[in-house]
Amino acid sequence: MSAFNVAKFGGTSVANFEAMSRCAELIENNPNTKLIVSSACSGVTNLLVELANGVQDEKRRQVVIEQLEDIHYAVIDKLADPLATEQAVASLLKSVASAAEAASFQSSDKLTDHMVAYGERMSTHLLTQILKERGVSAVRFNIREIMRTDSAYGKAEPELDTISKLAQEKLVPLCQKHVVVTQGFIGADIEGNTTTFGRGGSDYSAALIAEAVAAEGLEIWTDVPGIYTTDPRIVPKAAPIPEISFSEASEMANFGAKILHPSTLVPALRHGIPVFVGSSKEPEKGGTWIRQEVESSPLFRALALRCNQTMITLRSPNMFQAYGFLAEVFKILAKYKISVDLITTSEVSVSLTLDQTNTSGGAPELPAEAQKELEELCIVEVEQNLCLVALIGNNMSECKGYAKKVFSTLEDYNLRMICYGASPHNLCFLVRSNDSRRAVQDLHRELFELRE
Ligand code: ADP
Ligand code: ASP
Ligand code: MG
Repeated sequence: MSAFNVAKFGGTSVANFEAMSRCAELIENNPNTKLIVSSACSGVTNLLVELANGVQDEKRRQVVIEQLEDIHYAVIDKLADPLATEQAVASLLKSVASAAEAASFQSSDKLTDHMVAYGERMSTHLLTQILKERGVSAVRFNIREIMRTDSAYGKAEPELDTISKLAQEKLVPLCQKHVVVTQGFIGADIEGNTTTFGRGGSDYSAALIAEAVAAEGLEIWTDVPGIYTTDPRIVPKAAPIPEISFSEASEMANFGAKILHPSTLVPALRHGIPVFVGSSKEPEKGGTWIRQEVESSPLFRALALRCNQTMITLRSPNMFQAYGFLAEVFKILAKYKISVDLITTSEVSVSLTLDQTNTSGGAPELPAEAQKELEELCIVEVEQNLCLVALIGNNMSECKGYAKKVFSTLEDYNLRMICYGASPHNLCFLVRSNDSRRAVQDLHRELFELRE
């Protein structure tokens, strides 16, 4: 085991000079933290995604480039010795401008990954220089040298053995002598093309890196002091959770709690690496420890909300007592690499939601060719503007009566695709987007705030 921690700083934690200086202070105060994984500065990835999706209007492209310049130069202007950093960032911004022009002719997932990676490539130049100017022996490391993935642009899968081998060779020795600053979110395929892990992917990067270097601990520094009973931006009365199990936190992340990328805890769990989530702005407030063994396992732990859901309903009278209908459906979905998330069935219909978005954003789409093939089999309805609400807890399938409480709280809502009983850890359903925040607020009040 490497006797050091990996720390990941999210977009708001590296939003500007002051925020980055707070990160630097945290790093200085914890000599055990040797490997820093940084996101792009807040707002930068959204701007890069806009450019990567193809902006026809040259003036608009210019405006976006200027916004990117403003964010990064505001930090450079506060450096004591800005020259090398300024040159590096200027050259990266120049490349962004020419890639944006190319994307205005033809965008692609490959080009999108190439473009969005500039966010993390720039922020790590800034953070490294800030650390150096404070007297820390910091070096910037290009994570694409070790973060080998497949070529599934926008939603890449890591190649664990290669990552581990390269990390032991190139990264671990560097961490013995320096504080190493590297990029979250991005990797490279075998041909050296840049790939990404999907939006919010820096958490996953940090966990993969922690696994590859066999770190002692993983720190996720963000803009809230830990994991709460639900998103505190939706419910201000949400309560912080001091300690939570890997399985509960994984359910939360999978069901959309934005605080962690869904895959984050997989590598940490594989290696039993404890994870801490805290606020880089208010570290004194403490945070949440995610561990294998925890002291309490309450019936209700948290509520998660994931929006941008696409629901497909397939109806066919032939489904009734027929063999192989679902097999046919899944054969078509597999052919078009469509990953299914939730599923409910009746005798004549099956409803499913499509798996979450990749780096380009938006609600997942059913490809037109796949829809055509499905329509040869059955009637296909596609609905959007839906959100998934998940109630996460422990031993829920063994507890009587709680479903009544949930559904009576939500009796005025139109609930769809209720999944109940398949997992002892969750109950989930879809609601219309417009109702989703209120549904979470009502449920939180009933299940978490009125508890003795
Ligand atoms: P970062 O840029 O640091 O990765 P994110 O915006 O991705 O930060 O994640 C932090 C945000 O996650 C918080 O500001 C909060 O709005 C949201 N969030 C969603 N669910 C929860 C939860 N259960 N507890 C805390 N924060 C949550
Ligand atoms: N910068 C990327 C994003 O905004 C990755 C991350 O911040 O985790 O999605
Ligand atoms: Mg995030």
